[in-house]
Amino acid sequence: MAEDKILEVKELKKHFRVGRNKTVKAVDGVSFDIYRGETFGLVGESGSGKSTTGRTIIRLYEATGGEVKFDNEDVHGKKSKEELLKFNRKMQMIFQDPSSSLNPRMTVMDIIAEGLDVHKLVKDEKERKERVEELLEVVGLNKEHASRFPHEFSGGQRQRIGIARALAVEPDLIIADEPISALDVSIQAQVVNLLKKLQKDRGLTYLFIAHDLSMVKYISDRIGVMYLGNLVELADSDELYNNPLHPYTKSLLTAIPLPDPEYERNRERVAYDPSVHDTSEEPKFREVSPRHWVLCTTKEFEQYKIELESK
Ligand code: ADP
Ligand code: MG
Repeated sequence: MAEDKILEVKELKKHFRVGRNKTVKAVDGVSFDIYRGETFGLVGESGSGKSTTGRTIIRLYEATGGEVKFDNEDVHGKKSKEELLKFNRKMQMIFQDPSSSLNPRMTVMDIIAEGLDVHKLVKDEKERKERVEELLEVVGLNKEHASRFPHEFSGGQRQRIGIARALAVEPDLIIADEPISALDVSIQAQVVNLLKKLQKDRGLTYLFIAHDLSMVKYISDRIGVMYLGNLVELADSDELYNNPLHPYTKSLLTAIPLPDPEYERNRERVAYDPSVHDTSEEPKFREVSPRHWVLCTTKEFEQYKIELESK
């Protein structure tokens, strides 16, 4: 893979004010790059700040601090309407729950064509219809579906509609926020395989958000692990899976279910205990081996290096 950065996220922060004087630091200084054509998986338990990271990158939320660059251009600085529209076209988002992200009063045709209209990508009604029908086919639905409403579809089909809507404007980067978590297990693999095929055919780049590591490992080239608003570890998928270093990543990995029910009954889940950390200094994100980053203190850094060497 050519290391061509499509997205650079530097020290991104998103703090929410709740009530009169409480602040939730949902994202608190997260940095990572995404390379063109890859799938970057972002994992972590519920509430760790994954969705807020995705939503802030795409400017659904205004960042509290930090920087986001898309194709080497600052996305979060002062921008003209035209520039914002351009970014809005290049980055699209797919949401976890297609039922709440698709307007129930709009036909599938109008839902999918929304981006085509906003960005004036079709010249007339006929071309609009053709584009939508083509997109329906691309995501495994058929053109007769265009006149129906979202509630007439199953969860998996609704997610396909969400994917078609995102694809309509021909984005380069898609942020998929737990796109399969709300679906039946039997449907999950179909949607993941569709996403993979689309990536191959269209050279798409994905930021794929999930709360468990099993599907993310299958789809991602690299994985970042989030815990309480911070990235605690980042590595190539295989490396992260085979040589996890941060105790939180280790505990997440023990939570991946295995197909053997006997093993499942007997195994012990390793809970993450944050008190195991060295507190002599503020932890920093450090590269323990090439492309393998861990949030750690200098002392932990030395320990992790020894741990890797002894494998
Ligand atoms: P995840 O997607 O990993 O489950 P979120 O990004 O949704 O995590 O949430 C991270 C933290 O930010 C949580 O504590 C959540 O309650 C809080 N949070 C998310 N969105 C808002 C909001 N709009 N207002 C206030 N707090 C929020
Ligand atoms: Mg979320």
